[in-house]
Amino acid sequence: MEITINLLPEEKRKRLELEGDLPFGRIFTDHMFYMLYQKEKGWHSAQIKPYEPICLDPAAVVFHYSQTIFEGLKAYYGVDGKIRLFRPDRNMARMNRSARRMCMPEIDEEFVLKALKKLVDIEKAWIPKEKGSALYIRPLMMGTEAFLGVKPSGEYIFFIILSPVGAYYREGFNPIKIYVTDKYVRAAPGGVGDVKTGGNYAASLAASEEAMKLGYTQVLWLDAVERRYVEEVGTMNIFFYFEDELVTPSLTGTILPGITRESVIQMAKDWGINVTERRITIDEVIEGARTGRLKECFGTGTAAVISPVGWLAYKGEEYVIAGGKTGPLARRLFDELTGIQYGEKPDPYGWIQFVP
Ligand SMILES: *Cc1c(COP(=O)(O)O)cnc(C)c1O
Repeated sequence: MEITINLLPEEKRKRLELEGDLPFGRIFTDHMFYMLYQKEKGWHSAQIKPYEPICLDPAAVVFHYSQTIFEGLKAYYGVDGKIRLFRPDRNMARMNRSARRMCMPEIDEEFVLKALKKLVDIEKAWIPKEKGSALYIRPLMMGTEAFLGVKPSGEYIFFIILSPVGAYYREGFNPIKIYVTDKYVRAAPGGVGDVKTGGNYAASLAASEEAMKLGYTQVLWLDAVERRYVEEVGTMNIFFYFEDELVTPSLTGTILPGITRESVIQMAKDWGINVTERRITIDEVIEGARTGRLKECFGTGTAAVISPVGWLAYKGEEYVIAGGKTGPLARRLFDELTGIQYGEKPDPYGWIQFVP
């Protein structure tokens, strides 16, 4: 498939807004990638065009039944002036996994990755240069057929939009406070907890709002069946570092399979750390925090990279982890991952792809 390219004339483009604090996800670049799907035609009309509103029928499937999936990755401006993507092939593969689960058409992973690189190349002036900042990339697919019956849509839109984002840790690499909820659950076995689909995030809002009112940044989710096993935190996977073991919950179908998670597991194993993916109870975590056996706790995800957890609230008690300080393992993982992403360190795993 050919990509039609239709760019705004220079004088119609927005003024670059890359100075000062860039808020997350509020500024968008001048252009977007866009393509359409119809049952009879497959994917067609691939184009890079001006960023603009999408006009949909009020009966479009996505509005009523949330048949939609998305991805999130970043383009980094390297210390050598080259533009890097971190494991974008994994995002494409995960998007297709999500598509299959939501009865949506698969994309041609290589084609879409090529289109993504082309778009980032066209918009490269929008990549902020400060270390820690990046161009956030949001691919999304949704069912657009105008039909109120509950069945897979026969028509879809796929697009990619770009948003320059500031450094997550402008104020320092400081641990966050998280709230363990046993009132709400995020995902049940057999459901869609391991899919990046809109409804999961709408369903999590009430718990986040309650946690924030109490002074906590994020929610730590427990399993839906026994409300005992730790799952993940906010939009991050979670790790616990005990004296002799780095533990992260196994992918049992209710947890999003994070690409940062996968990368952290591989690096830690290569550093000789005993990494295990297993079920872990909240009681084991609390006991570890109480006795000091739990050395560190941190979340992992594209937005924050590594987010140290310093405090955990559970059943009305607050527990401190590692004295509320960032531990050496979280620091080392953060330095190594961002080092690879910004081209300061070699990429021994072949995780980086360049733009163009
Ligand atoms: C996207 C996401 C993650 C992190 O995945 P990465 O690929 O590391 O960015 C973790 N949990 C949830 C619920 C997510 O949506």
